[in-house]
Amino acid sequence: MIQSDDMNDSGIDCEKYRVRPGDRVSLADRSTDDTQGLDRKAARAIYKRNLKQLDEFQERLYAESKRSLLLVLQAMDTAGKDSTIRKVTANFNPQGCLVTSFKKPTPRELDHDFLWRVHAHAPQRGHIGIFNRSHYEDVLVVRVHGLASPKAIERRYDRINEFERLLADAGTRIIKVMLHISSKYQLGRLRKRLENPEKHWKFNPADLEERKCWDDYMAAYEIALTRCSTDYAPWYVVPAEKRWFRDAVVTGLLLNAFNEMDPRFPPPDFDPADYPPESLK
Ligand code: ATP
Ligand code: MG
Repeated sequence: MIQSDDMNDSGIDCEKYRVRPGDRVSLADRSTDDTQGLDRKAARAIYKRNLKQLDEFQERLYAESKRSLLLVLQAMDTAGKDSTIRKVTANFNPQGCLVTSFKKPTPRELDHDFLWRVHAHAPQRGHIGIFNRSHYEDVLVVRVHGLASPKAIERRYDRINEFERLLADAGTRIIKVMLHISSKYQLGRLRKRLENPEKHWKFNPADLEERKCWDDYMAAYEIALTRCSTDYAPWYVVPAEKRWFRDAVVTGLLLNAFNEMDPRFPPPDFDPADYPPESLK
């Protein structure tokens, strides 16, 4: 049984990282390595506690089968999207959780509107969906490399807000997280990948090319975060350089959302009194 007093006590102020509607985001002013004074041990303890509660909430969400939760993850290469997903889902029942990675669109996907492929993966009732990259690529990489006309890109911010409103109206709770790192930190991660043969598979020379566009990416992120953080689908800029802190924050954000949603086990459609234990054969 979940104790309601414990539930708001994740020990970290996750709301601090929220982008409020009307905020003009400047990423340079947002920390990439904040830890709120916690050390690794304390943050890990919070993370573990969060995981346990998330596990119970997932069961309730699944049993209730009325609403869903969507975590959208965006980040520069090496910021830790994959490891965040591994950490957040560690205790989940895989049957109620679906992770979707959005890569370069296929020709078939490109023959549709940009939200077509995304909508198809919106989590169904009772499920948790995680997007590893998302429809935001259509105003990030697409903007940075001019893969669509400026006019078309300009219209997408409103379309994204409407799309997310549609999901929210249908019962999907949306949390969007940008894992925030510095360019210097990324360089360190890329060097580490090259030094360790077991990490070579993760090294992608194309990441070095993208890295050259760092400032353009930050500018594109700032526009998206400023224009698309809403009450029904808020953005959070989470400091991601201390991974143990990041895990505590992202699980804390999910926990806060679950607390507000308060999913309930459905009442039985039978009278348990009709089935006393001794009557079962
Ligand atoms: P990892 O490198 O950890 O496996 P990743 O998400 O970086 O994960 P990649 O296959 O390296 O996966 O990269 C996917 C690429 O697809 C990214 O460069 C991303 O910008 C690109 N991409 C995703 N969505 C779109 C889109 N709508 N239009 C153009 N490019 C896109
Ligand atoms: Mg990559």
